[in-house]
Amino acid sequence: MLDASAAPLPPSAGGPVFSVPVFSVVVPVFDEEAGLLAFHARLAPVMDRLGEWEAVYVNDGSQDGTLALMQALRRTDPRLAIVNLSRNFGKEIATTAGLDHARGDAVIVIDADLQDPPEVIPDLVAAWRDGVDVVYAQRRRRQGEHWAKRASAALFYRLMQRFGPVRLPCDTGDFRLMSRRVVDAVLQLREQHRFMKGLFAWVGFPSRAVPYDRAPRHAGGSKWSYWSLWNLALEGITSFTVMPLRLATYLGLLVAASSAIYAAEVVVKTLILGNDVAGYPSLMTVVLFLGGVQLMTLGVIGEYLGRVFNETKGRPLYLVERFVPSEQPAAALARAAE
Ligand code: UDP
Ligand code: MG
Repeated sequence: MLDASAAPLPPSAGGPVFSVPVFSVVVPVFDEEAGLLAFHARLAPVMDRLGEWEAVYVNDGSQDGTLALMQALRRTDPRLAIVNLSRNFGKEIATTAGLDHARGDAVIVIDADLQDPPEVIPDLVAAWRDGVDVVYAQRRRRQGEHWAKRASAALFYRLMQRFGPVRLPCDTGDFRLMSRRVVDAVLQLREQHRFMKGLFAWVGFPSRAVPYDRAPRHAGGSKWSYWSLWNLALEGITSFTVMPLRLATYLGLLVAASSAIYAAEVVVKTLILGNDVAGYPSLMTVVLFLGGVQLMTLGVIGEYLGRVFNETKGRPLYLVERFVPSEQPAAALARAAE
């Protein structure tokens, strides 16, 4: 299901101009002016050896010359499709937009910054040809990343594996190949809060990991700050498990039980020792502690409520400013000859 603003495919002028490629490479791109050409130059020869392909570049509201660069590339390589979003929607939604517009039998999702080496794609394709539906690339080690980022990522995956309903494969990003039926399944999930790794895992289907070494960024800096990583983790947790809500319940039970014990102690002490109106510090401690616990659990409920609110609005996931479909070279030549 595409949103209403997506331009329809132009009618093919006689002959299979818009023949369906075997592979679609979906690339979310945000401010990658510095590295996009290098990326395409490495992607194209790899894909050429595999068969008919298209690259769906999604321009996620870049502020630099990324769009102009894509259009220039499109003029030299008709196998490029450009989805220009109306503003920056974030990587997860940009990826979804790319999947919506990809037509291949197998779809590969890859970052534009060359951290996911295109040279791994033939391995993914080999597994797909074996009949595996989801082939995800699994990082062997992370180069050029701070230890704190590695540690927090590891913790997040362990937590999600422990409490989430689906197993998230660890050390995988969005770099993967999906068969057509898996893409169609993923595209049925139209929730606003998109945690792609979780959505990919949720649909299931036979999957296999292919190990690779994640390279440092080719150019520019990562757009992920620690704050946005924290938000992504929150997104992952809240969109896949209601465990925090249950934790809040247990915490409430625990506090109630311990306060009952404490109340009994106070009553007994008063009966035995009499009441000398002491206990201001303990009173303050209890009041502040309870206040804190209540605010925190309200916050947890709020996280979920906010997500319910966003879903109920039923807005389209993204708006497309312009869509340029890809063409296979033979068809493009035939059309040029007309
Ligand atoms: N990206 C995007 N929209 C955004 C942020 C990033 O489409 O709002 C793209 C970016 O151009 C790149 C990919 O998502 O192709 C991964 O981004 P980044 O390298 O910043 O993330 P990291 O590799 O650190 O996870
Ligand atoms: Mg990156």
